[in-house]
Amino acid sequence: MAPNLVVLGAGVSGLTTALLLARSGDYNITIIAKHMPGDYDIEYASPWAGANYLPVATPGTPSETYERTTWPELAHLAESLPEAGVHFQETVIYRRAKDVGSATGDWFAELIKEDAWFRDVVPNFRILPKSELPDGIDGGTAFTSVCFNTALYLPWLTSQCLKHGVIVRRGIVSHIAEAANLHHTGKRADLVVNCTGLASLRLGGVEDSAVYPARGQIVLVRNDPGVMASVSGTDDSSDEATYIMHRAAGGGCILGGCLQKHNWESQPDPNMAIRIMRRCIELCPKLVPEGKGIEALSIIRHGVGLRPMRKGGPRVAKEVISGVDVVHNYGHGGYGYQTSYGAAQAAERLVRETCGSSRPRL
Ligand code: FAD
Repeated sequence: MAPNLVVLGAGVSGLTTALLLARSGDYNITIIAKHMPGDYDIEYASPWAGANYLPVATPGTPSETYERTTWPELAHLAESLPEAGVHFQETVIYRRAKDVGSATGDWFAELIKEDAWFRDVVPNFRILPKSELPDGIDGGTAFTSVCFNTALYLPWLTSQCLKHGVIVRRGIVSHIAEAANLHHTGKRADLVVNCTGLASLRLGGVEDSAVYPARGQIVLVRNDPGVMASVSGTDDSSDEATYIMHRAAGGGCILGGCLQKHNWESQPDPNMAIRIMRRCIELCPKLVPEGKGIEALSIIRHGVGLRPMRKGGPRVAKEVISGVDVVHNYGHGGYGYQTSYGAAQAAERLVRETCGSSRPRL
């Protein structure tokens, strides 16, 4: 009999982990989650993400491995699977010397390096000459990245799971061990994979005090600037940044943003929204017709998401909680898409180590 697994959580971490496990054909999997693709909720980070691939990991950390090993998977999606809603986008990253030490400057510290560790990972990495830098910018790089249309990608991941036999159900647990009783067979699961993101702070049996939110506010618009661009900081506040991400397949364009640590506020701040829109037009004037301002932005929605940050980085680890084998995969902060395949592969290895598979190997 194939081991029975419950994956708790249907964000990008839970769905990717479930998909890799299901593709192997070695497990009998149920996904249980309070929120599913299609929902927009402050407790559910994944739909709010841009989402693009802008590596921020410190070299030598597991996150670097996750980001490095995720890129080929994302390039494959963009090249070969248009139905996933991921496309290549040319990207420019601008650095301002005065942002060093600010919340956003620290966030961008690896991303803005001219000798960035990922320069051989992404295609077409180059250092921008001074002649290509806007006023007020001290340096910059450009490369080819990808951008997800999360409104297509999350349902696509779910469909891929269904195609590989995963059963997907709504459920809410207050303790991680309860999830073992929710396998669709009615039998107790052999292992639970914990992909609950920010909820791991309070989830019974996990209660990881290293987990905290970093609030991100965005404006989704119909305008198309033709490029993705980010700058390391702003003069408005040390926890505000400026970034533009154009989503695949009609997903609109994300204007951001901020990185407000320990801020749980779920509602968009209208003043910040105006600052975001102004700054994005300043950064990328092609967003609107020449001479126009924020009135020329066609707004789809304002949004707020909470990045599931974790002191010390993401947690991909195994432990036994109240007699239940658990593999954790959470704490992916502002980089859960760009680490998704690498982290899911690491979680899959831990699942195999813990409960193996009864399927006969050919
Ligand atoms: P979540 O998406 O939050 O999913 C958690 C799941 O667990 C949900 O299904 C929830 O219902 C379920 N759950 C929780 N508790 C329980 C419970 N007790 N019982 C049952 N179910 C439970 N990342 C990038 O890589 N690139 C980007 O460009 C990017 N941009 C971002 C921009 C913003 C504004 C934000 C907010 C985030 C951004 N991120 C980006 C980060 C990315 O969105 C997150 O790292 C990622 O979505 C985390 O996914 P997750 O599956 O771990 O958590």
